[in-house]
Amino acid sequence: MADTYSPVRVSAHGGHSGQFCLHASDDLESMVQEYIRQGFAWFGITEHMPPLQDQYRYADESEAGISSAALQEQFELYVKTVKHLQQRYSSRITILVGMEAECYPGSLEYALKLQQRYALDYIVGSVHHVRGVNFDFSPAEYVRATEVCGDIDALYRTYFDEQYEMLQRLKPAVVGHFDLIRLYDPDYPRRLATPGVMQRIERNLAYIREKHLCLDLNMRALLKGAAEPYISRPILEKALALGIDILPGDDSHSVSSVGSGIDAGTALLQELGYGCVWKRPDRHQA
Ligand SMILES: [Zn+2]
Ligand SMILES: [Zn+2]
Repeated sequence: MADTYSPVRVSAHGGHSGQFCLHASDDLESMVQEYIRQGFAWFGITEHMPPLQDQYRYADESEAGISSAALQEQFELYVKTVKHLQQRYSSRITILVGMEAECYPGSLEYALKLQQRYALDYIVGSVHHVRGVNFDFSPAEYVRATEVCGDIDALYRTYFDEQYEMLQRLKPAVVGHFDLIRLYDPDYPRRLATPGVMQRIERNLAYIREKHLCLDLNMRALLKGAAEPYISRPILEKALALGIDILPGDDSHSVSSVGSGIDAGTALLQELGYGCVWKRPDRHQA
């Protein structure tokens, strides 16, 4: 009788907490305890990197009047706190200390500096800005980013070009929500398949393969009402055919979203024939 391998639960992208992120809730320790309760083998806490300058704050941070300098100080406290929790719970679970990096002018150098200064286990390389506009915060900002690029096809192309630059500079062990640019576009399956976009996707995937980076199968999309996770299925199938490693991520922003979608994501990967023997990102060698 063949052995049936049952994959362990992991999350390589998540643990945004109300303690260190304005658009998240609950304290970080409660979230850690929830990962333990759910029997995770390991998980990464990957708080958003602080903004380099005030103009790159998220909308809620600027509305609340919190300066980039204050957010940078808060990040230092985040690293101290998560390292303390890593030690405190080390006999029960492996916690990796990471950061979700941004992509706007100056952010890549800054991300590398932070990684070195705080000896982070790994980086999740994400793109939440196109031409400096934070497109994922609201539909209105998505429209603004589209206008800055010219039209929506150009928005997609620019997104994947900026992502390519980020991949080359950061070589992040985990690439966050690869096709996030589809977020507010109901017509995304067609748009992703247009030649000018698909060529860029294939170029980026080839680079990810070459550098042995992993893709985040980001399940938070489902909580926000999307029909499928990031990465969308045609891209996921291409990535698997290239032999790219995938890691599920809950992208949790509260205790109640810890572990959300991890089992569904794992089941999807198994259905597509992926072994689900997870490659821990802190062992990544770029
Ligand atoms: Zn967030
Ligand atoms: Zn993100």
